[in-house]
Amino acid sequence: MSDTLELARDLIARPSLTPDDAGCQRMMAERLAVLGFRIEHLRFNGVDNLWARRGDARPLFVFAGHTDVVPTGPVGKWHSPPFEPTLRDGMLYGRGAADMKGSLAAMVTACERFVAAHPAHRGAIGFLITSDEEGPSVDGTVRVVETLVARGESMDWCLVGEPTCVKQLGDTIKNGRRGSLTGLLTVRGKQGHVAYPQLADNPVHRAAAALAELIAIRWDEGNAHFPPTSLQIANIHAGTGASNVIPGELVAQFNLRYSTQQTHAGIMARVHALLDHHGLDYSLEWTHSGAPFLTQPGVLSQAVQHAVRDCAGIEAELSTSGGTSDGRFIAPTGAQVIELGPLNASIHQVDECVAVADLDRLSAIYQRVLELLLVEER
Ligand SMILES: [Zn+2]
Repeated sequence: MSDTLELARDLIARPSLTPDDAGCQRMMAERLAVLGFRIEHLRFNGVDNLWARRGDARPLFVFAGHTDVVPTGPVGKWHSPPFEPTLRDGMLYGRGAADMKGSLAAMVTACERFVAAHPAHRGAIGFLITSDEEGPSVDGTVRVVETLVARGESMDWCLVGEPTCVKQLGDTIKNGRRGSLTGLLTVRGKQGHVAYPQLADNPVHRAAAALAELIAIRWDEGNAHFPPTSLQIANIHAGTGASNVIPGELVAQFNLRYSTQQTHAGIMARVHALLDHHGLDYSLEWTHSGAPFLTQPGVLSQAVQHAVRDCAGIEAELSTSGGTSDGRFIAPTGAQVIELGPLNASIHQVDECVAVADLDRLSAIYQRVLELLLVEER
């Protein structure tokens, strides 16, 4: 069994449901300490985070990721228990196999081989690992980044191990992510009897036209790096359950995934103007969970693409699709941020899995990235 597979199995066997790290970070830290990493366990409000660094020089290359996993869903639907790592037909099954304990194992073993071959590499290597990525993401990466910024510790390059690939390991790397903005809209009317509409004010009727206009907006066409901005209504509620009552209020929740063609302030202003135009009595609460970020093609993206070419024999495509990631907290520091991890087809699902061969290949790619960035040309 390869080192990477063995470590991935040990990590999966620890049921680290957000925000519980279940000892995963200590297991990684022990391996890194042996390599000469300085270890810091940063705990914020019950959330475990690991910051490990080898070397004081710049440039600083950082592997970033999370040890926490999402809930298993119905355990009975799994073909093997979610926290018992199981090999079947060349695949490793278990919660977190692809998102992202396989990547964490590959990062550690890549470093072990790299440091053995290049103990006096240039620059420094860091690990920024949280147990609060799948949850509120309040006491995780963002707090570690604040800590590093406060002490003037700057990252130059950051490789996030999120599962980015679609059909084949290495086919897709992320060089940014869209922003995410959620609105909770309450439209007020006046409850009454459906037979006496003149005595009531139906908020469903009032909201319908405004919502129709809202979903018809073409926000932008995207740009070279981003798909078009999209708005989706996620929840809508009104009514008492009775067929003879006009409801007093309608509540709708919608989410925008937006490109760098928009700002969250601009989107909010446009939605308010639309609702005001319809003369609604409403309130609207916003949650902005992440601004869009983009790493322009450059030293890091080229090194990752080069490594994929060397180790997987394919050309990695740059993409900004999918949900947001903790990269949104790291990119604003000025670091280049690229994400590369296993296939994402099974993440958050029952029977989550990763190909065993991909674990070793991913580790080889990560090692190659270190060589390309931290070994002087000669
Ligand atoms: Zn993840």
